Amino acid sequence: MKLARRVGSIQPSPTLAITSKAKAMKAQGIDVVGFGAGEPDFDTPDHIKTVAKKALDDGYTKYTPVPGTPELKDAIIAKLSRDNGLEYKRENIIVSVGAKHSIYNVGQALFEEGDEIVIPAPYWVSYPDIALLAGATPVIVDTKEEAGFKMTPEQLDRAITPRTKCVILNSPSNPTGAAYTGEELKRIAGVIVRRDVTVLSDEIYEKLVYDGFRFVSIASFGEEIRKRTIVVNGLSKAYSMTGWRIGYVAADKDLVAAMTNIQSQSTSNPVSFCDKAAIEALNGPHDFLKEWVAEFDRRRRTIVDRLNRIPGVSCLLPQGAFYVFPNFSRVYGKKTPSGKVIDGSSALAAYLLEEHKVASVPGVAFGDDACQRLSYATSMKTIEKGIDRIEQAIGMLS
Ligand code: PMP
Ligand code: GLU
Repeated sequence: MKLARRVGSIQPSPTLAITSKAKAMKAQGIDVVGFGAGEPDFDTPDHIKTVAKKALDDGYTKYTPVPGTPELKDAIIAKLSRDNGLEYKRENIIVSVGAKHSIYNVGQALFEEGDEIVIPAPYWVSYPDIALLAGATPVIVDTKEEAGFKMTPEQLDRAITPRTKCVILNSPSNPTGAAYTGEELKRIAGVIVRRDVTVLSDEIYEKLVYDGFRFVSIASFGEEIRKRTIVVNGLSKAYSMTGWRIGYVAADKDLVAAMTNIQSQSTSNPVSFCDKAAIEALNGPHDFLKEWVAEFDRRRRTIVDRLNRIPGVSCLLPQGAFYVFPNFSRVYGKKTPSGKVIDGSSALAAYLLEEHKVASVPGVAFGDDACQRLSYATSMKTIEKGIDRIEQAIGMLS
């Protein structure tokens, strides 16, 4: 069968691929340590599950409005006002089947052939492919580890051309955990307004921040930036609801209307009883989050500390999310005991997985071949065991 040309330009999500490979190895009885997971290891809180079960029992199992029910939109509007100081109307909100779907729909509604989409690297794996699927051209801006993996306003200014349609910002970041301060965002916002481009702000990790970091949405610096911002968020990370598939966008009403048309011709509504559960998640108690953040914080410190003790490895302390992005480039060029040369992050990931049973995602998937992404959404015991293995694996290179 002759497939459409567009699929030739994309690859399967490497993060999902590694996670499923590690799970398959575990199912075969292999003792794999999984640092691949892009999801919290906590269960969805009970009060949210109870509402979903009740919705099923009440027969809430039919089609619902395509962009999400008015009640869910109102819960999102209240959340954006409460947490981010952003005021929206229902016509500005669309709920989709996960934030990835939200971003995909933005791509389909906004990007086209000839458009350039500015994406700071390291980036989340799906951004460039979503741009490509819409026929647009990703323009990658390499950030520096010394700059905390953050794009400077000057770098952004240089990357923007008359063809630039949108800039994709992700703070806190997957894979680096870097988070922009309010001051840094204000300067980025200044460039976006001055150069009159759009920004997609992926805020899905906003609740997972450490050391008293204060999350600020770039849309909150006044009307000029707000009208150019597409806020993306979702329930996967803050409520451990990855499988429920609820993500949303707050943006200009014309964009939301276009995305609703696309959705009405593709997936239709978000799952009915997940819509109810999402209302409970957003409006209900959030006390569990404190414990989750404290636990992530403990693991974050341990994993960073352990990695920095391995000769040849260096790792920044991330401010948010649940990933670390250690630099292994000083061991590149060395050989494994079986004679394979570690010539980059893919070779290192393969060596760690195949010979030491540790799953990580090669940095090249995020646009930075010097690093590996390790998720610490796993128990402290698993972290200790996995880092022991990495330490041993690196020590065996010559
Ligand atoms: N954005 C980022 C930065 C992510 O890491 C993820 C993780 N899966 C998503 C969006 C999509 O999340 P979901 O589709 O589960 O809502
Ligand atoms: N976003 C998560 C990750 O980066 C989940 C996997 C995916 O959606 O690609 O691992």
